Amino acid sequence: MHNISVIGSGTMGNGIAHVFAQYGFNVSLIDISEEALKKALAMIDKNLARQVEKGTISAEVKQKALSNVTTFTSIKDGVAQADLVVEAATENVDLKLKIFKDIDEAARPSAILASNTSSISITKIASATKRPNKVIGMHFMNPVPVMKLVEVIRGYATDDATTKTVMELSKQLEKIPVEVNDYPGFIANRILMPMINEAIYSLYENVAGVYEIDTVMKLGMAHPMGPLQLADFIGLDVCLSILKVLHEGFGNPKYAPCPLLVNMVQAGHKGVKSGSGFYQYKQGSKELIVAERFNK
Ligand code: NAD
Repeated sequence: MHNISVIGSGTMGNGIAHVFAQYGFNVSLIDISEEALKKALAMIDKNLARQVEKGTISAEVKQKALSNVTTFTSIKDGVAQADLVVEAATENVDLKLKIFKDIDEAARPSAILASNTSSISITKIASATKRPNKVIGMHFMNPVPVMKLVEVIRGYATDDATTKTVMELSKQLEKIPVEVNDYPGFIANRILMPMINEAIYSLYENVAGVYEIDTVMKLGMAHPMGPLQLADFIGLDVCLSILKVLHEGFGNPKYAPCPLLVNMVQAGHKGVKSGSGFYQYKQGSKELIVAERFNK
């Protein structure tokens, strides 16, 4: 494994490219938007500089990492030499099926095709290719350079060799991979999203206010952040769409999204990205302005 192609250069794609480049891999970073690629390179530069300041990497490693990244706006050109492709484009089933069909046609037959999807079935994504045994989930956490976990998701047809290669590769990035099977929400979101939904139900049913709910979970369970603030950070629209995947995938009413969450998303209150969710934020930043939007 030497040549890694990363498709999508947004929040996750630039982090994934950063980490592979830092550990000496040759990275082709692909996006349909030139603007997104420019922003991604600037972000990688900034995040590497922060690591140099902290003393976790040297200035030489930073320079080498930056020189390891090449950008492309065409999937065909960007994946031609890849040993592994990691797709981190927008979370949309039809888009991902199209991208995987295109990668399958352009990449070498030996290449492994991974998706960083949070909620779309790996088995379904694999069905768009002629190599479902080489399609796998590689679910990095945000922010990628900091978070240690990689959830490695085996689709129905993923073979042992592919799984082993991706587990080993994750370790080379000094991540801790865990292997899970392909069912709705995998493990991370299957457990996280019902907790967030229950926190929203507790607010909806007026059991307690935003501050109280988040404080109970922070101080009582030693969570670094309360579930309502975490939902704001993830994006309330993203939480809603993952809950819908769980609800539809299992057909179990316990996953039904809370009506308050549905209303907030419909009203455009999507959390940090829109400046307001359960808390209010300075536009374009994670800095809290009002911590008590829904408090009694
Ligand atoms: P994002 O919106 O920040 O970035 C998506 C990028 O994909 C954009 O730059 C867009 O231009 C690009 N793109 C769209 N169509 C494309 C195409 N056809 N070819 C190439 N590039 C294309 O999204 P994100 O938050 O980085 O999420 C990416 C993936 O990672 C999603 O599947 C998401 O579910 C998953 N994920 C996100 C997080 C998170 O915290 N944001 C965490 C884990 C997994």
